[in-house]
Amino acid sequence: MHHYPDAAAVVRALAPDEPVILNRPLAAARAARFFVEKFPGKSLYAVKANPSPDLLQILWDNGITHYDVASIGEVRMARAALPGATLCFMHPVKTARAISEAYHEHGVRTFSLDTIEELEKIVSATASENGEPAADLRLCVRLRVSSEYAELSLASKFGVDLVDAAPLLQATRQVADWLGLCFHVGSQAMTPFAYVQALERVRAAIADSSVVIDMIDVGGGFPSIYPGMEPPPLEDYFHIIHRHFEALPIAYNAELWCEPGRALCAEYSSLIVRVEKRRGDELYINDGAYGALFDAAHVAWRFPVSALEDDLIEGLDEFSFYGPTCDDADFMKGPFMLPADIQAGDFIEIGMLGAYGAAMKTGFNGFGAAEVVIVQDEPMASLYRGDRIDPRESDNVVSLR
Ligand SMILES: *Cc1c(COP(=O)(O)O)cnc(C)c1O
Repeated sequence: MHHYPDAAAVVRALAPDEPVILNRPLAAARAARFFVEKFPGKSLYAVKANPSPDLLQILWDNGITHYDVASIGEVRMARAALPGATLCFMHPVKTARAISEAYHEHGVRTFSLDTIEELEKIVSATASENGEPAADLRLCVRLRVSSEYAELSLASKFGVDLVDAAPLLQATRQVADWLGLCFHVGSQAMTPFAYVQALERVRAAIADSSVVIDMIDVGGGFPSIYPGMEPPPLEDYFHIIHRHFEALPIAYNAELWCEPGRALCAEYSSLIVRVEKRRGDELYINDGAYGALFDAAHVAWRFPVSALEDDLIEGLDEFSFYGPTCDDADFMKGPFMLPADIQAGDFIEIGMLGAYGAAMKTGFNGFGAAEVVIVQDEPMASLYRGDRIDPRESDNVVSLR
């Protein structure tokens, strides 16, 4: 893979006709080391945020040993990329064949569930050929929690309701060698209080069921930085989670896990796009809703942008983007702040696309291609550089909105 100092150097060298994904291995390595050193437990990487084998290798090399996979495709891919990794199959609705292949062929022992039916499926799919039940299952019951403090909800889809949790925990304890409780507060949780509320529900579930709990998994949801979304320091999340974990009625040697996706890889990638046409304050660019800008289109996520031309002299103005396909829905409202004199032929770098960005690209309408290169500069924003203004000091709040 080619290396360049930064996006401007890529444009000078390639004048690329198609979008270019810029990867920053050092940013992903730094994020991994941050979680490994500072989270008071084990950090699993949620592979769906960005399944690139290069990224998996970087995370592995920097101490991430456990990976949260959600489909048999992710199990196979992660196992091929990282033969020594511990894979945890954390989707609560799996097929029997997927469970069986994961257990018997890929060494997966940890599975999540949120119903008795899924528990029975796991038990039968992992039994030996003569019907002997597996004695080494590590099972996590997923509890339904509120998403009210997250930008993207994962609350309504999965998780057993608190009122139904006790019988499921008791039944799971009967067959599990090791029993965990997990939840997901939603993605981009903007306050640590999201986890406090969820851990209170965990406490109630444990009290109702009176089972021995070996592990608490607080899931993903750890934020990154985007325009208008400046979260508190991650250390605040870690301290608050640790304090509430320590106060739970669980085994003295119980483990604490988390499953960050976004926070480990958002800073890993940015994207170079070209303006193909301008119509007023709308820029027609060559990536969009069916490409790496899925969230910009579907949930009006605002990503940081920077014009890559040095002959633009006017001040910043608000722009929206159209993507390249023939579909009106290929529209990103923004606003994206760019020099007022930007025009067709100019290149733009769009930052913070390492999570749920590069991973979302499709080939719809023939527009999926993108070259991938490595750059050496800093990401447009970072939670890990140690030079952030403390957002708790109100005078210092940086609001880009
Ligand atoms: C998506 C997902 C994650 C990662 O979420 P982020 O918000 O990216 O941190 C973790 N665990 C599960 C079960 C998920 O579905």
